[in-house]
Amino acid sequence: ATSRSTGGDSTTATAAAHFVLVPMMAQGHAIPMTDMARLLAEHGVEVSLVTTPVNAGRMAGFIAGVEEVGLAVRLVEIPFPAADFGLPDGCENVDMLPSKDLFSNFLLACGALRQPLAARLREQQRRPPVSCVIADMIHWWTSDIARELGVPWLTFNGSCTFASFARHIIQRNNLLENITDDQEIVKFPGFPTPLELPKAKCPGVMCVPGIDQIRDKIYEEEMRSDGRIMNSFQELEALYIESFQQTIGQKIWAVGPMCLCHRDSNAIASRGNKASMDDTECLQWLDSKKPGSVVFVSFGSLASTEPQQLVELGLGLEASKKPFIWVIKAGKKLSEVEEWLTDGFEERVKDRGMIIRGWAPQMMILWHQAIGLFMTHCGWNSTIEGICAGVPMITWPHFAEQFVNEKLVVDHLKIGVEIGVKGATQWGSEQKEVKVTRDAVETAVSMLMNEGEAAQEIRMRAKDFGMKARKALEERGSSYNNIKLMIQEMGNRKNTSAAQPCPLLAKPAPVDQQR
Ligand code: UDP
Repeated sequence: ATSRSTGGDSTTATAAAHFVLVPMMAQGHAIPMTDMARLLAEHGVEVSLVTTPVNAGRMAGFIAGVEEVGLAVRLVEIPFPAADFGLPDGCENVDMLPSKDLFSNFLLACGALRQPLAARLREQQRRPPVSCVIADMIHWWTSDIARELGVPWLTFNGSCTFASFARHIIQRNNLLENITDDQEIVKFPGFPTPLELPKAKCPGVMCVPGIDQIRDKIYEEEMRSDGRIMNSFQELEALYIESFQQTIGQKIWAVGPMCLCHRDSNAIASRGNKASMDDTECLQWLDSKKPGSVVFVSFGSLASTEPQQLVELGLGLEASKKPFIWVIKAGKKLSEVEEWLTDGFEERVKDRGMIIRGWAPQMMILWHQAIGLFMTHCGWNSTIEGICAGVPMITWPHFAEQFVNEKLVVDHLKIGVEIGVKGATQWGSEQKEVKVTRDAVETAVSMLMNEGEAAQEIRMRAKDFGMKARKALEERGSSYNNIKLMIQEMGNRKNTSAAQPCPLLAKPAPVDQQR
């Protein structure tokens, strides 16, 4: 493909740039990275997007879209050694793991991509040569590849600056180590505004097997990186960007919201995966509803809500009497609740409720004018997509940094209300008790959908951030400028860090010794 710059002036520095992007194979990380690929290509960069065969299949729609408009994004496909690491054949994405216990196997299999990727990039050192590697933090081992190529290495962690900063403080200070009581309040020294969370809500409190072993490596490598890419924008969290930069002495490139790279309705409807329902039907349904009248409920790609909790949520939505679209992730939990859905519930709400089983065209729905409220698990992509949509949020975090994102949304941006979750749910584990009652659901929906002063203010603020988000990526907006500067700066930099090997980082053992 020939490169095309829709981003205005394509300078000499950007014309020769070639960025290698290495996303984590989990939809919450891969989706923004494909968006990033598009944004970079729109600014005249050639992009090599590293992936594996199964994930390449999921990206087919994205690649067709960029090719159609002549953008220079190409896939670099590396076979994924699933079977060598005890994973089912073709298990190449976190959402395909049969059990969370296999997560560490998955990480080891990712690490085994190092040699083949390095070899492929060496082979493909062509014109233009690689000028920068941007990798998900989980692929910390790509720093060596960048060093070998002598090019800068930037990291991406899929979250916002607010949450990245909080996670950094926890790790740097070992904040959680000696706290035994889950409800003990943790304070964050050095955070620019007061931040307190019970331990149960802190990122890192839930140990996903496998993550602990590599947490230190990720931290070390992130600290040595040439900067961090943030799917955020200056106007959203300027104070935290500034303060985090000073604390870590590294540049933070806020170049988002990356989701706004999509302007084509097909690309918006098919983002991430193929939708499990007909998007035209969904649009017709939305078109039939009044502007701002529909509640959209979706908890991302990984969170799995317990059947009892799903029933309670459904009853709360029913009691609110508002129109709603409710996405329930396909899988065991859905099958357990299927009978309840079909045996009365769907019939009772048929005039105003749509249930999507499986993958929803989330951005297409969120950005429809009928949506007036977003009930979200606060994964950062969903959060920033909600911000772009300019709608208030009901925050229902499940795990990881979602509780910190909730703080940003509720306490700082003041564009949402908490549903009142008390602590994290272990990813992939069974949870018998109901954490949020139907009354809490009904109260939160009613509070944000009414005409009261508080709700109106929240709506206005949400709308305002939505406009600022769009401006940030427009020509001469803050993120637009940052992308240009970042491309230029990376083109001028050489990676010389190979001279100072990181003492904590031993070379990974050969594959057969890792297991
Ligand atoms: N998503 C989607 N349809 C779904 C579920 C998720 O399009 O049915 C997209 C959503 O728009 C977001 C991403 O998947 O871009 C989920 O990322 P997020 O950070 O919100 O949560 P995670 O899945 O990582 O928990």
